[in-house]
Amino acid sequence: MRSTERVAVAESNHANDLRDDGRRLVTDGGVDFNAPESLLVVSNRQPYRHEWVNGDDNGEDDGDDNENSNDPGERDVTVDEPTGGLTAGLDPIMRAIGGTWIAWGDGSADRAVTDENDCVDVPPGSDDQYTLRRVWLSDEAVDGYYTGYSNRVLWPLCHGMTELLEYRPTDLEWYRHVNRQFADAVLEEATDESVIWLQDYHLGLAPSMIQAKAPAGATVAQFWHIPWPDPSSFAACPNARELLVGLLGSDVFGFHIERYGTAFLECVEETLPSATVDYRERTVRYDGHETRIVATPMGVDANSYEERAREIGDDRWDSLRERYDIPDGCAVGLGVDRLDYTKGIPERLAALERLFEGYPEWRESFTFLQKATPSRTEIPSYDRLGRQVRSTVDHINERFGTDDWQPIVYTEDFLDRADLTTLYREADLLVVSSVRDGMNLVAQEYVASSIDGDGALVLSEHAGAANALGYPAFTIDPADTDRFARTVADALGAPKSERTTRMAALRTHVFDHDLEWWMDQQFAHIEAARFPAVDRRVNDVSRSL
Ligand code: ADP
Repeated sequence: MRSTERVAVAESNHANDLRDDGRRLVTDGGVDFNAPESLLVVSNRQPYRHEWVNGDDNGEDDGDDNENSNDPGERDVTVDEPTGGLTAGLDPIMRAIGGTWIAWGDGSADRAVTDENDCVDVPPGSDDQYTLRRVWLSDEAVDGYYTGYSNRVLWPLCHGMTELLEYRPTDLEWYRHVNRQFADAVLEEATDESVIWLQDYHLGLAPSMIQAKAPAGATVAQFWHIPWPDPSSFAACPNARELLVGLLGSDVFGFHIERYGTAFLECVEETLPSATVDYRERTVRYDGHETRIVATPMGVDANSYEERAREIGDDRWDSLRERYDIPDGCAVGLGVDRLDYTKGIPERLAALERLFEGYPEWRESFTFLQKATPSRTEIPSYDRLGRQVRSTVDHINERFGTDDWQPIVYTEDFLDRADLTTLYREADLLVVSSVRDGMNLVAQEYVASSIDGDGALVLSEHAGAANALGYPAFTIDPADTDRFARTVADALGAPKSERTTRMAALRTHVFDHDLEWWMDQQFAHIEAARFPAVDRRVNDVSRSL
């Protein structure tokens, strides 16, 4: 589902103004995107996925008409639309400028709807379409490149949890192979005017593969959505040199916060002695090419969360409370996380146990609802975490629960956006206790949905979001269980005036630094690299953060 505001961007295509410096100004209610004229987005996940209606592929037509159909001939196809985060945020911009998006085609009907160049126009049936070019990956490639090297090596490495790194040489081979596939697809599409914007750690080698053969005027940018480790952790990278050289193919390399960028510069200095690292200018010169390191914390589509929070009726909260057996009048704490070892869920449960031990006044008057989404379960460390979390919840509930009250309600149920927003709106407090987290969008979504203005955010100082949001959140170190428990008690017991003052400051920040702001900053950084003499205003903004 898209927000009405974002659809308005796409619908305002006719008002877009192509400027003589090669940029296109996309205007949306006062926000001007410095969107490049020719944008090529490259990501692992695709914005639209085509699926056979019946989930099979036997070619039979079941006779149903489907509004979202992208008629491939005989059969009905549904199309999943972007539901949140970057894909939903970028989609209207792509529609407005008619760019090209290159991503892995993982839908059952994806091949059936693409042309001989692996391309399909999206969204189906719209007047404002852009090109989605799909890259095809075998099951073996996905296992090696995605589950393997990306999630068993780069994910733990970049979160500084090197003890969980599982390296298999064949995974690296697949990572190289798939990065080459993406790079080849980009090179077939790129022109002299192209801005090629790669997303995230799945594509760490592609920038230099692209840079080596791209048309002279093309610009290569990458955004790394997870942290960058310090040199002592990075030393565990099985192909440290190759990865850095791959990334230094970018003209602009973006992180959420300056600290990750500094760690990257330190790793380059240690690993590539022939590189020239300039900490003041935040540049690396290697093999005759310069890369600018920039930092822009990613925001959320705050307006759409707020709008949704205002639209939802109270009955939705009543039915959720009934479903999860939360007594009327009980204060409610909330956690919303993928079941990932970076999210600090065991540390959170330890603090909650300490809370019920040391602050008995919160027994039977406070319930913590933990929504967990199983993730990457084929990796043993994730499977172990799930079992540990479920058994700790049982232990706490057995220890403190009564006939009428359960201290922790744990659910892996699917929650749609409306349910999630209702929980954000109604929770008295949200806990984010990541042991390491590139940014954390859940914290910002909670703030944007807190329309009553008196929710409390308990936020780990190890999440990138803490850098941006700072003091008005109740900050914790997840490893310090006593202080964590005390902070939850403080947040629950804080006077309404303190809660509203803190939340007002958080909301100002989240609305002023939303997803649109982030994209605009990224485009401005890219533009500054493309036209160095034209526009340096982005430096001032990023350095003030
Ligand atoms: P990560 O990307 O590491 O999982 P983030 O907090 O940065 O962590 O982002 C998680 C995203 O997943 C948020 O945008 C959140 O709204 C979304 N999400 C989590 N659970 C659900 C759910 N049940 N339904 C829809 N979206 C969800």
